[in-house]
Amino acid sequence: MTEETILEKFYSHFVGTPTVFAAPGRVNLIGEHTDYNDGYVFPMAINFYTYLAVAPRHDRNLQIWSENMQETILFSLDSNRSRRNHWSDYVAGVADELEKQGVILPGADLYIDSQVPVGAGLSSSAAIEMATALALAHSANASLEKKEFALLGQRAENRFVGMNCGIMDQFISMHAEDGHALMLDCRSLEFSQVPLKSDAVCIVVCNTMVKHELASSEYNKRRAECEEGVRLLRAQLPGITHLRDVSLSQFNQLQFGLPAIVAKRCRHVISENQRVLHSQACLAAHDLAGFARLMNESHNSLRDDYEVSCGELDLLVDLARSHAACLGSRMTGGGFGGCTVNLVRLDQADSFVEQIQSAYSFRTGLHPQVYIFTPSRGAHRVTAAQ
Ligand code: ADP
Ligand code: MG
Repeated sequence: MTEETILEKFYSHFVGTPTVFAAPGRVNLIGEHTDYNDGYVFPMAINFYTYLAVAPRHDRNLQIWSENMQETILFSLDSNRSRRNHWSDYVAGVADELEKQGVILPGADLYIDSQVPVGAGLSSSAAIEMATALALAHSANASLEKKEFALLGQRAENRFVGMNCGIMDQFISMHAEDGHALMLDCRSLEFSQVPLKSDAVCIVVCNTMVKHELASSEYNKRRAECEEGVRLLRAQLPGITHLRDVSLSQFNQLQFGLPAIVAKRCRHVISENQRVLHSQACLAAHDLAGFARLMNESHNSLRDDYEVSCGELDLLVDLARSHAACLGSRMTGGGFGGCTVNLVRLDQADSFVEQIQSAYSFRTGLHPQVYIFTPSRGAHRVTAAQ
């Protein structure tokens, strides 16, 4: 999508002189179900963006057109808006959080068009939040730190939209750098940019095209099981507040005092944190095979210990691993459907994609969307400053 096409599309709905912003979706390479345990995650931003063109208005209204939803919505910033279970909640929630932070917003016309598939697990939600936050802050002449944008986006999603997400999605959409993945400590929000560009391999994401109903009830159960693990382990380890504080060797010694299910959940989280840290070391040493092994181990742990995989995810992973070009494959996201992420040799990526698509279709009757992604830059202004 070029700047010209966005501007052209803006003018088919609005008048005025717009400024264009873009924010990417993301894929988590490793570190699943670690965020709410105060642990580590390792996402990269993808080369699919949500574009947003913004122009000021002379009243206190926001008028928004979403190209993806083919719908326009108009509301006043002075009306007491609350959740409507509508896509505009993401925009209204961000506006609300900006104003709560003391930013006085003028009215604006917003044109939104996203390349990030909506609801596919690639975080179109963080992309729309971060693009909106940049655009509205710009229209109010306010400047905020990237971290503040990420945190207010998360608050918008938690409070206004009502989705209890962690900080990863907004953080990577804001902070990503071209050619890098980002190692994030979800406790301190310290992070490091890890070079990922390679002429030898690429990141392929495959969508199962299913989302099982179980996802949210099982998510709440897992969170409770992790808390129970902390509570029981605290008898021997009084200083701990989250599973992040427990080392693998401590766990290995103490696991027999835990109920079997709780022990499995804890083993996943504690070993997954180790795998994220180890991944960073592998990439620093240019050890792609080592990184891929950790991806495989991550999936096995999510499947066997955390039990959040499903038949379709396991099938996609098995099909991927049976292709010679695949170095590593795992489910990504919360589980019970959604996507897998694969490290694939670049020179055979086309054959990998074809084989996955045809074999998965043959086995399930579903046609999986498959994407080849490059690690891309975070949210930014597209139009040059005047
Ligand atoms: P994901 O973040 O995995 O894509 P979510 O359910 O978290 O899935 O967020 C998807 C929701 O975000 C959509 O249902 C819609 O409400 C909102 N959304 C995302 N992108 C857009 C867009 N371009 N236009 C309007 N709403 C959008
Ligand atoms: Mg989302």
